[in-house]
Amino acid sequence: MKEKNLIIVVSAPSGVGKTTVIRYLMSLRTNLALSISATTRKPRAGEQHGVDYYFLSVPEFEEKIKNNEFVEYARVHDNLYGTLYSEINRHLHSGNDLILELDVQGMKSIKNKFPWAVTVFMLPPSLKEMETRLINRGTEGKEKIQKRLKHAFEEMKLRSDFDYTIVNYEVEQSANDLDTIIRAEHLKSNRLEINLE
Ligand code: 5GP
Repeated sequence: MKEKNLIIVVSAPSGVGKTTVIRYLMSLRTNLALSISATTRKPRAGEQHGVDYYFLSVPEFEEKIKNNEFVEYARVHDNLYGTLYSEINRHLHSGNDLILELDVQGMKSIKNKFPWAVTVFMLPPSLKEMETRLINRGTEGKEKIQKRLKHAFEEMKLRSDFDYTIVNYEVEQSANDLDTIIRAEHLKSNRLEINLE
């Protein structure tokens, strides 16, 4: 019996808390890996190169685009973000399920290249709550928060393009929901190759 590893794309407007949910689930499971994206965004306090993102300069990022090193890349909130082929290969060959945290454009590109990818959209309980989280996080100024909220509103209209939706009321519950999705996907009939001999 052979199982294929999953590629799980999780998208959520910033401030929904998807990173917290994913990291919580990863602390409970061993066979789950997180793809580290490359970005031209400056690191926030506490963020580390090679842990949270590969932080690149614009010329470094453009060089990688030219060399076809990205599975997908997109401009989000004035910065470039992209998934490297090397990340996908590194994890899938090690037998783990792989989570990608991408915006909606990224989800669509991945679904084009890997139609069997599982896509999950995470919503805040309300836009008001999301604004509060962004203000409390304190990493973006007023203008940037408004821009992110507007972008969030646009992205939320696209949630029906995803296979699953999780409303993030509470971290533990949302991590449990994500875990349930992953377990169910592994049980799908077309994912199992069963040797009946
Ligand atoms: P943040 O700056 O808050 O870390 O991320 C901003 C947005 O960029 C989030 O919606 C996040 O999911 C998205 N993002 C992060 N990495 C990638 C990536 O590799 N590709 C794409 N398309 N979006 C990404």
